[in-house]
Amino acid sequence: MWGFCIILILACAAGEYSEVQVIQEMDNFLENPHYLKNQEIGELFTQLAKDYPDLAQAYTIGKSLEDRPIYALALSAPTAESKNGDLLRPMVKLVANIRGDETVGRQMVLYMAEYLATHYEGDSVVQDLLNRTEIHFLPTCNPDGFAKAQEGNCESLPNYVGRGNAANIDLNRDFPDRLEQSHVHQLRAQSRQPETAALVNWIISKPFVLSANFHGGAVVTSYPYDNSLAHNECCEESLTPDDQVFKQLAHTYSDNHPIMSKGNNCNDSFTGGITNGANWYELSGGMQDFNYAFSNCFELTIELSCCKYPAASTLPQEWQRNKGSLLQLLRQAHIGIKGLVKDASDFPIADASIYVSGLEEKPMRTSKRGEYWRLLTPGLYSVHAAAFGYQTSAPQKVRVTNDNLEALRLDFKLTPVETNFDGNFRKVKMERSEPPEKRKEQFDGFLTPTKFVHHNYTAMESYLREISASYPSLTRLYSIGKSVQGRDLWVLEIFATPGSHVPGVPEFKYVANMHGNEVVGKELLLLLTKYMLERYGNDDRITKLVNGTRMHFLYSMNPDGYEISIEGDRTGGIGRANANHIDLNRNFPDQYGTDRYNKVTEPEVAALMNWTLSLPFVLSANLHGGSLVANYPFDDNENDFNDLSMRLRNSSINGRKANPTEDNALFRHLAGVYAKAHPTMHLGQPCELFRNEFFADGTTNGAQWYSVTGGMQDWNYVRAKCLELTIEMGCDKFPMAAELPQYWHDHREPLLQFIEQVHHGIHGFVHSTIGTPIAGAVVRLDGANHSSYSQTFGDYWKLALPGRHNLTVLGDNYAPLRVEVEVPEGEPYEMRMDVTLMPDDPQHWASANDFRIIENVVNTRYHTNPEIRSRLAELENQNGQIASFGYADNEFSTYFNYLKMTSDIGEPDEHKYKLLVVSSLYDTAAPLGREIVLNLVRHLVEGFKLQDASVVDLLKRSVIYFLPQTNKFQDVFNMYNANSSVCDPVLGDELAERILNPETDQAKDMFLQFLRSEHFDLMLTFGAGSSELSYPKGDSVLEKFAHGMQRTEFNYSPLQCPPSATRQAHRETTERLTNLMYRMHNLPVYTLGLSCCRMPHHKQIASVWRKNIDKIKNFLALVKTGVSGLVQSDKGQPLREAFVRLLEHQRIINVTKNAARFQLMLPHGLYGLEVTAPNYESQIIKVNIQDGQITDLGTIRMNPFTLIRGEVVELQNKASGATTSIAGMVLDESNHPVRNAKVSVVGQTQLRNFTNSMGQYHISAVPLGTVSLKVEAPRHLEASRQLHLIQGGLATENVVFHLKINEHVFGLPRFLFILFASILIIVGVIVCVLCAQFWFYRRHRGNKPYYNFSLLPQKGKEQFDLEEDEAGDDGETELFRSPIKRGMTIQPYFDEEQLERILHTDDEDDDGPHMEPELDVADDSGDEIVMLHNHGNKRRH
Ligand SMILES: [Zn+2]
Repeated sequence: MWGFCIILILACAAGEYSEVQVIQEMDNFLENPHYLKNQEIGELFTQLAKDYPDLAQAYTIGKSLEDRPIYALALSAPTAESKNGDLLRPMVKLVANIRGDETVGRQMVLYMAEYLATHYEGDSVVQDLLNRTEIHFLPTCNPDGFAKAQEGNCESLPNYVGRGNAANIDLNRDFPDRLEQSHVHQLRAQSRQPETAALVNWIISKPFVLSANFHGGAVVTSYPYDNSLAHNECCEESLTPDDQVFKQLAHTYSDNHPIMSKGNNCNDSFTGGITNGANWYELSGGMQDFNYAFSNCFELTIELSCCKYPAASTLPQEWQRNKGSLLQLLRQAHIGIKGLVKDASDFPIADASIYVSGLEEKPMRTSKRGEYWRLLTPGLYSVHAAAFGYQTSAPQKVRVTNDNLEALRLDFKLTPVETNFDGNFRKVKMERSEPPEKRKEQFDGFLTPTKFVHHNYTAMESYLREISASYPSLTRLYSIGKSVQGRDLWVLEIFATPGSHVPGVPEFKYVANMHGNEVVGKELLLLLTKYMLERYGNDDRITKLVNGTRMHFLYSMNPDGYEISIEGDRTGGIGRANANHIDLNRNFPDQYGTDRYNKVTEPEVAALMNWTLSLPFVLSANLHGGSLVANYPFDDNENDFNDLSMRLRNSSINGRKANPTEDNALFRHLAGVYAKAHPTMHLGQPCELFRNEFFADGTTNGAQWYSVTGGMQDWNYVRAKCLELTIEMGCDKFPMAAELPQYWHDHREPLLQFIEQVHHGIHGFVHSTIGTPIAGAVVRLDGANHSSYSQTFGDYWKLALPGRHNLTVLGDNYAPLRVEVEVPEGEPYEMRMDVTLMPDDPQHWASANDFRIIENVVNTRYHTNPEIRSRLAELENQNGQIASFGYADNEFSTYFNYLKMTSDIGEPDEHKYKLLVVSSLYDTAAPLGREIVLNLVRHLVEGFKLQDASVVDLLKRSVIYFLPQTNKFQDVFNMYNANSSVCDPVLGDELAERILNPETDQAKDMFLQFLRSEHFDLMLTFGAGSSELSYPKGDSVLEKFAHGMQRTEFNYSPLQCPPSATRQAHRETTERLTNLMYRMHNLPVYTLGLSCCRMPHHKQIASVWRKNIDKIKNFLALVKTGVSGLVQSDKGQPLREAFVRLLEHQRIINVTKNAARFQLMLPHGLYGLEVTAPNYESQIIKVNIQDGQITDLGTIRMNPFTLIRGEVVELQNKASGATTSIAGMVLDESNHPVRNAKVSVVGQTQLRNFTNSMGQYHISAVPLGTVSLKVEAPRHLEASRQLHLIQGGLATENVVFHLKINEHVFGLPRFLFILFASILIIVGVIVCVLCAQFWFYRRHRGNKPYYNFSLLPQKGKEQFDLEEDEAGDDGETELFRSPIKRGMTIQPYFDEEQLERILHTDDEDDDGPHMEPELDVADDSGDEIVMLHNHGNKRRH
């Protein structure tokens, strides 16, 4: 019934009568051209399927809103001759009329279907096409719209009737979009139109490779993407990774289309007749992007005609124009590569990913039959395949030529992780001839005879070598390093395919024999190894474990200690430590501090740390002996470094606090699993030697039992993110070999169950919307801060208890994602949760966090010195009210430019805090720091413009100086330009080093002078090469500030920066510099590590800024919390010489010169403030500080002393000789006497006196014992001193005070005056006085009377010391044997020089010009006790 007719086309050349005859086929479907109605389409397809049953198959993909079927037809040649059937035959689709009123494509698709079906017989081109390709035709996506549209309408009808579907929804905006957030995605899914839903299902369900989607209203071929992150309306390209392929496809169509290729139709102009979608106009939710982003299909959008619904008479002409293009396009389905991905047993692997080098962002997924197609333009590629549960294939190199439009065949065979193949291990087959069950019985679980003996290092080594040689396919023996004496630390890996981390397979470890004489764990691991390897393949449980878990056993972490240990040792200490006599379980870095045991890292510990950090360990246990309990973190409390009693294993010590981790419930569960599986551990019975130790359920929190500082389990949790338990395997540390079988029986099941726990919880993969694995994403559970990180392949683990959990995933430059996950209550207790992160939009971020300042996050770059200056000058010009730029207008600003910001530049700022923000004290980190400073300035300026409450408040309360360091910028910038990324640049003589160097240097001197003259309250500076925050240690207020800074909602804490020599040097320099600034300039410096790379690529500046902005904001917000008040006399006069001190802190705050007002930044908490004014009674006020509030104490009225000057009230003599008298002098720095200084005995309000005009004072009736004498004088800083009055009768006559002038009484409000030695910490006082007394009585009982006073050590110093070999955890009872610090200077006499020194240390505030800053501030020289003997000789000054 289908025939052909021939027509003649006469073409006449002008002026010539040469006739050219072109003979063309004319298909009879073009006779009487008209648009087919939907029903007619169905009839046509049914007819075709009937007429060509081998070729055609009609189907529908769904129904429209008005219930019209959406018809489809598939055409493909029969495959009888081929063995593989239509395997690897690519599928292509032609889709049209998604907008009901764009109709030309609808007919073209129908014509092509008819054409191919009718021409298969006899047309070799069509035959070739249908033999190799399966083509699907979908002439209309929107039958309802078409029904409403009107023929002849070139533009859409009013209200776009017919363009959308029956609900007037534009279906081409209704698809899931690759850029939309998940919640938008869900919302939109609820209202998705039935047509779109049908299309989505159709596109996803079939492995289409190539597609064309026909529109009208223009003549052009458009390719993805249609939208971009920036969501510009038009004119900016948004390219796919496969742009080359798309361009080739688009050209294939356009170049073969006589009109389109010209590129200028319908008043539009497109070079070559093609365009990137987003470059033309932005469109979200389109079908073309959906195809590419959510499936493997490459789709083009082809606009066919200027008129959307032209008269049917134009259709033959359109067919002639498009036929060639279409046929050529269909053939493009064969470019690139294709192949099959199969497993070892030739089963196809579905959903495997095919990665092509350079195009990793768009991996192709295999079909259910394991097929893949990857369109590629000619070139050299490296291709690999990956699939969950399989090892990633080796990359294969291919050269794609696309010759003859035939895809290159490239197959992959993947090795499964869960192999059941027997392996090629050397098992003695004969032994397996008996049924394993019987053998299991015979050898008590093992399949071969097993010796229960102890293994020394040599025996262990040969045991491991032998067993790993016997099971080469299941094991890998490796050493992680060497002990002090050079013994290898052997680890055996047991896994179905050992050798490397397999995506999706968790890593587990057991570490034993860390204490050399605790050997049970070591022997049991050796037995467990044999047990598992023998039973692999014979025991489903073991087989499953070995197939799905990568296990690493370190049998002996301390082989040196083992060698000297003694069999039968039950609780001893010989062999416990390593060959350097260091207890390895005290040698790890600790979150709470450093002491002599973990100051220097031992080689065994270094090896263990490197190993642990090299693999993504999820779960671990550390096997000890000497008790029977499962111990979980934390092992110590915050103050245990100072409180040694906490480290004693002695159950009679009360007050030990449990210190639970954020994962406490999980840890208790894990410990419980072990304890319960053990026949006796869960009973919690004590060992013979520790009869009072009862452990409920056989588990304990480490810190609650006894404190282990520098322990391994805490380090694993805190630093390596690996959950570790410490298992005490039994009461005896080194039991006799004969007892080993019993130990094995008891522990075999707990050891196995514990390993199985590694699978319980949540795990999966983190990838981007286009499937790229995201490594290093932070994964958190239930709002806890403890993070895990996704690995190289995006895989992550988060062990969790059954139940509902919130999983938070944070990736760099991706929007944070929170999902709810439910871990099942029963087997398998695990939940796979793959998460897809959406790229986040910098503009969205900027409007949410940064006042919409696009400059801070888009097109970031490094600014040169002149650029920085002009930016800052510009900011001053535009914002003169709040910003002032200092540049070359004084000596300082010739070295350092600075921008000063405050709410009103002109107004007096005595009541404001002064903050300093320096780009960096390192020239090599300054370029990055400067950009952050610049961003911050912009942030504040813009915030102020918008009158953001927080910024306005900040600028009202403070004056901020921004100091971008410019010194060596050019050098660093040159390095950067030469190398484009300078992560670890080396430059000698950086500013930080010069500040520490005693030699003078102009820039450094100017900088220090600047600090001295401006008296900043806080300084923030930026470092790089680390992600840490450095600040002065030892002050709890400053520490709380630091914690406040680090508290951010989304803490993208990056992985630890890899170590390098310069990084280490910088870290040390930063520490010394922080000390120097704090001690010498009273300036707490916070150094925020911005990124691991010191000078990352300039595009990265945006991400650095985004990661750190919250911390910087937190720093600035510190000024918003604190306390303020006014100090007045009882008569209402401001007391301008008053000052305020924070009890138990080294801070003095003077009131302001006019209003006598004080204010003080303090983190939230409860504090005691002592308000003092000369000649007034001091007051102590309790304040409770709340976050974000300045607690105003109002007016504090002070009462004057009631006593008349010079009068001393004598106390009643209770006993003869129970009091004594004190006399002395009060002098100022230049040895002039200070008049009217108040000298008082602290705590004895009645005992006080004032100095006379010669500066002399006298106090009598002072009770014996320890007293503190305090001196206060107008315009001077107070001083105090501890006196030890031993015997009555003899007057103490030479107590001289040396006061320093308080230069700031009439200056600005300050709170950072630290009287270093004069303010004694109460606890320190008591302890040290007791020590001194103890010493005194012991050594000098019966001697002549002494008066002594002591300058007491400050906190943070070790006061205890002990012999190296007494350091065992049981030996820790020895700690108190010699409680006095060694090396204390004891001086029975004094001379002039000595006194000079003492007098100077009285007033520690050293910013006076006469003092050279002591540069080696790490050395604390305040630790001596100096005895003054009373010779009766008066000290003259
Ligand atoms: Zn131990």
